[in-house]
Amino acid sequence: MPAPCYLCGAPSVVDGLCADCYNEEHPLMKVDPLVRLVVCKRCGAVKVPGGWQTIKSSPEDKVTTREEHVSIVLDREIEALGNDLEVTIVETNKLDRVLHINLVARGKSHDDLAPHTEEYPVEIRFDYGTCDTCGMMSGGYHEAIIQIRADERPVSESEEESIADLATDLTVSEYGRDERAFIIEVDDTKFGLDFYIGSEHLARRIADEVEARYLAERKENYKLIGQEKDGKEKFRITILLRLPRFSRDDFIQVSGNLCQVLDMGRGGLACYDLVTREHFTINPKSSRWQSIQFIAPNSAAKEFMVVANAYDQPIQLMDQESFQVVEVESAVLKSEDIQPGAIVKGIEYEGDIHILPSSTEETNDS
Ligand SMILES: [Zn+2]
Ligand SMILES: [Zn+2]
Repeated sequence: MPAPCYLCGAPSVVDGLCADCYNEEHPLMKVDPLVRLVVCKRCGAVKVPGGWQTIKSSPEDKVTTREEHVSIVLDREIEALGNDLEVTIVETNKLDRVLHINLVARGKSHDDLAPHTEEYPVEIRFDYGTCDTCGMMSGGYHEAIIQIRADERPVSESEEESIADLATDLTVSEYGRDERAFIIEVDDTKFGLDFYIGSEHLARRIADEVEARYLAERKENYKLIGQEKDGKEKFRITILLRLPRFSRDDFIQVSGNLCQVLDMGRGGLACYDLVTREHFTINPKSSRWQSIQFIAPNSAAKEFMVVANAYDQPIQLMDQESFQVVEVESAVLKSEDIQPGAIVKGIEYEGDIHILPSSTEETNDS
């Protein structure tokens, strides 16, 4: 026969108390009934001790933004005391700057007791401000400029697009880690793109990636732009990235042989030698790199129809634009087993037709 609960006289269960009295004395959690929250009116970031916490949802989406704000603030405000605690948020009243919610907590105040439910009404008051990042952005703050140019040609539209995408992706990946990770402006100039970037760190990440992916030439310049509060000189960096004259699928000469660029990236260039009909790679450290010469853009390639392809005879090809028939040595196509009627691509260079690798031959297909 258990001793009676010393508060109400019912049979006691834990520490001389009945379950109800024990639960009453040991709430499942602690939370302030009035919680204040400062959010950035531009990006929705939440002010937290020591700075601002960025949010994942888009500020245009009011419902998920508010849910995220509430969960950020409750994560901080709720102090869990019970075991196996689960908290459900029930909105009871919503005004522009005030949100009334009921927190329904379920859990155990002691392992020997059954789970029970408690309710905590909370009022959340919203205030609006401008976070550090948005403040700097609207003030035009930028530590770095990246200029994308190309050697003796304008930067192509597809290059501009993929470099802009890359810059956006890297910026997004720095959200929440680098408060100056923003691009205040992208200038599309006659020669290429200029990025105005909040943080030098982000600018360097973008530049590293463009340099590696496009085998770009890189030059850096510092310009004194003023002084910090502590008197230290403040510099802005300009990173110039010059893309090579050639890009993917273009024709170049390497050590005198006509080649097609099949791919470019960290490892260097993946090329196809149209004379020896072999794949090879070459990187800027290679001694042959200096021998590279741009020959023609990929648009110089033409389509030909195979007219005749008999064993040991020159192959006859018909230019699909001029309908002229030309001959190429069968040796160059021997392994490729091309039937009459097939369409192949080729490039005319110094009087010879060089057949491009067929798609099955290409090892680097996008
Ligand atoms: Zn009791
Ligand atoms: Zn903001």
